[in-house]
Amino acid sequence: MSGVIANNFGSLPVVFDHGEGARLFDTEGKEYIDFVAGIGVNCLGHNHPDLVATIQRQAARQIHISNYYNSKEGILFAEELLNAAKMDRIYFCNSGAEANEAAIKLARKYGWLKAQQEGDACRNVIVTLEKSFHGRTLATLKATGQEKFHVPCFEPYPEGFRYVKAGDFGALKEVFDNTVCAFLLECVQGEGGVNLVDKEWALAAAKIARENGAIVICDEVQTGFGRTGSLFASEELELHPEVITVAKGIAGGIPMGACLYGGIAKDVFVAGDHQSTFGGNPLATAAGRTVLKTLLTPGFLSAVKGKGEYIRKTISDWKLPNVLNIRGKGLMIGVDVTPDSAVIQRECLNHGLCISTAGVYTLRFLPPLVITKTEIDEGLSILKSVLQ
Ligand SMILES: *Cc1c(COP(=O)(O)O)cnc(C)c1O
Repeated sequence: MSGVIANNFGSLPVVFDHGEGARLFDTEGKEYIDFVAGIGVNCLGHNHPDLVATIQRQAARQIHISNYYNSKEGILFAEELLNAAKMDRIYFCNSGAEANEAAIKLARKYGWLKAQQEGDACRNVIVTLEKSFHGRTLATLKATGQEKFHVPCFEPYPEGFRYVKAGDFGALKEVFDNTVCAFLLECVQGEGGVNLVDKEWALAAAKIARENGAIVICDEVQTGFGRTGSLFASEELELHPEVITVAKGIAGGIPMGACLYGGIAKDVFVAGDHQSTFGGNPLATAAGRTVLKTLLTPGFLSAVKGKGEYIRKTISDWKLPNVLNIRGKGLMIGVDVTPDSAVIQRECLNHGLCISTAGVYTLRFLPPLVITKTEIDEGLSILKSVLQ
């Protein structure tokens, strides 16, 4: 590769030119099935007619105006999304890490106000899960409950994070106390290995968190926007979080993130507390409206569930000795393989299938939500030939 892009990614040896639905084409004209969708971003696939038309139309009207002003598209998307999420307010930004930074600031201010009211000591600790992933800024790295992300060369990291193992009922009493302002979790851990968080445990943890005066924040950056077959994965766990963060699929590929909040968290932020230059611009919000409208089309989300079940069942029916575990929700799927996932990923790419990994042994599937049965079958047959 050319050496001009920051040397941080370890990119695979392919240069893509364009895409169509769940298919990608490289600069040599070779065709690939896309089970990655830009890490769950291209939820409507590539070259989706409605999304392209919206972006073209909006680009010709107005791309950006700054947050001194409101835009028509921004207000409409806020209303539509808050209505669908049953939340009260929204802060728009440009990425998942920024959405989580906003949520962290909101939680800290919530704790600060509460400690003042009650004459308590500091209430600023945020409890997160082991194996979580919350972003690449300094605070969201520290919020991430994986030691390998807290590398010494970037120290010092912000303090005030505490980690708990998902599923460990015994740890809950110890981890929550009156210094905690928020409990932050992914309902399905993406980067950490496609781990489903147990509903009973999540509900117990949220209950103890709230009894101790903390709010609940769901990081739905990966799980949100239909990925798991519901608009938000927290609906399935019935967590009713005070804060939800989203990004990835929200605008179908236009960079965007958002922090939605409500209930007792509704009035925490006041003017000047937090801001973003690009956040919520008319182009991104117009794209977001088209994505949301498409996901809420009757039958769309149940089809996502059906496709996910079909993929998991098909792989399970192969009964291959090097497939060790299959799990997931909707079109967020993890498959543990041997010898190691990166080797399988490269082999798949050679044979025309893009697939992601989550850790050394897990293949991660995040195909476009609009993927067709034909595209699924083509992708799976490549995967099978590589695994056999
Ligand atoms: C991808 C991801 C993030 C970070 O999003 P960026 O847009 O890369 O900043 C945060 N949380 C979760 C759960 C993610 O999957």
